[in-house]
Amino acid sequence: MSMERNDRVEPTESWEAAGPVTRMSVVVIGGGQAGLAAAYYLCRQPGLDFAVLDGGPRIGHVWHRRWDSLRTFTSARYCSLPGLAFPGPPDRYPGKNEIAEYLARYATHFDIPIRLDSRVTAVRRVHDGFEVQVTTGTVIARSLIIATGAFGAPFIPAFGSQLPVGVRQLHSSEYRNPDQIGAGPVLVVGAGNSGIQIARELAGGREVMLSHGRPRPELPQQVLGRDIFWWMSIFGVMTAPVELPLVDALTGSDPVVGNRLQQMAQDCAVHLVGRARGVSGGQVITDDGECLAPATVIWATGYRHDWSWLAPEFLDGSGMPRHAAGVGAVMGSYYLGLYRLKTRGSALLGFVRRDAERIVAHLVDHLDTDMTLVPDQETVD
Ligand SMILES: Cc1cc2nc3c(=O)[nH]c(=O)nc-3n(C[C@H](O)[C@H](O)[C@H](O)COP(=O)(O)OP(=O)(O)OC[C@H]3O[C@@H](n4cnc5c(N)ncnc54)[C@H](O)[C@@H]3O)c2cc1C
Repeated sequence: MSMERNDRVEPTESWEAAGPVTRMSVVVIGGGQAGLAAAYYLCRQPGLDFAVLDGGPRIGHVWHRRWDSLRTFTSARYCSLPGLAFPGPPDRYPGKNEIAEYLARYATHFDIPIRLDSRVTAVRRVHDGFEVQVTTGTVIARSLIIATGAFGAPFIPAFGSQLPVGVRQLHSSEYRNPDQIGAGPVLVVGAGNSGIQIARELAGGREVMLSHGRPRPELPQQVLGRDIFWWMSIFGVMTAPVELPLVDALTGSDPVVGNRLQQMAQDCAVHLVGRARGVSGGQVITDDGECLAPATVIWATGYRHDWSWLAPEFLDGSGMPRHAAGVGAVMGSYYLGLYRLKTRGSALLGFVRRDAERIVAHLVDHLDTDMTLVPDQETVD
């Protein structure tokens, strides 16, 4: 494999580089769990020069920002990245700050070269690799791994903008704790794992409504004294390719883990309402005909990705990255951590390692290839 050090180079003629230009073999974009798992395997390649670029101010900032009472739905046994066991008893459910601290310790432990406050704003292919524009300068890399998260920008339905200005609105990603929420009824929209946990926490002392759509599969946290992820692991559910028809049929919808919607609503006096479908007369209208006048709306309505910082050749007609199980259609580009990238575990802490190992092995083979022989070849359509 030919190795290049982080030499400074002059920009190519076609390119107006912003800030200093650095050349290296591999860039990992995103330093969350997926990027760090990739870095672990890259560190194992003797002499390979690479850097992890992360737009955040500190490692684990995504977890630090999640709500205060959040505990993982995977037990500590299933929160470990490759090479470093998650600390403490394996059958407990760690808090979100513990995860953030573990990620920071992980990066230190393996001396992972991570550059914080380095947001990537544009990527395009050039003849010898990729131009990566970063808020701090520009990097030219022969190969890149995109690990910017399974959950992109918070999504709020368009009709949210029709609510009266007096109704406070926040996305679940902005929710921290009940003290943040003022007086009056609260409507939580979306009954996935986040929505149910937030509604449950807010109930007790205030009126809480939870708007839900189609029922989701519900999984108990434990079965016969064992964590559900233990069972799913031994039956191969977490590691089977999602494109297998049987796996897809069995695991199609994302389950709610550890909470039964109807039971929780009854136990916590949460008022269940149908899917929120619009706003009329300043009130939220639901599928089942209710008109709701909340003082606060918490949108637990998920995330949408914005991939516009990738050049068009990376994307399909719907603006999503073109890849096959993480191997990018643009030769030399890779993806990690995306939801169902290859398996149900692809976006989860304890399971991302398999994809990371496979993708880095593919990338190393790619670097070993003389790219000048196949400059425009693509690996998948
Ligand atoms: C509420 C919630 C609870 C969850 N609980 C669990 C759980 O219990 N167990 C479990 O296994 N999984 C859980 N997950 C799923 C998953 O593990 C997390 O979402 C995890 O944070 C995903 O890791 P990631 O590395 O793929 O992405 P992220 O953690 O989102 O990290 C991506 C990184 O990329 C950086 N980045 C993004 N764009 C750019 C850019 N353009 N340039 C540079 N850097 C960029 C970000 O700053 C960030 O640091 C949960 C998810 C949510 C939303």
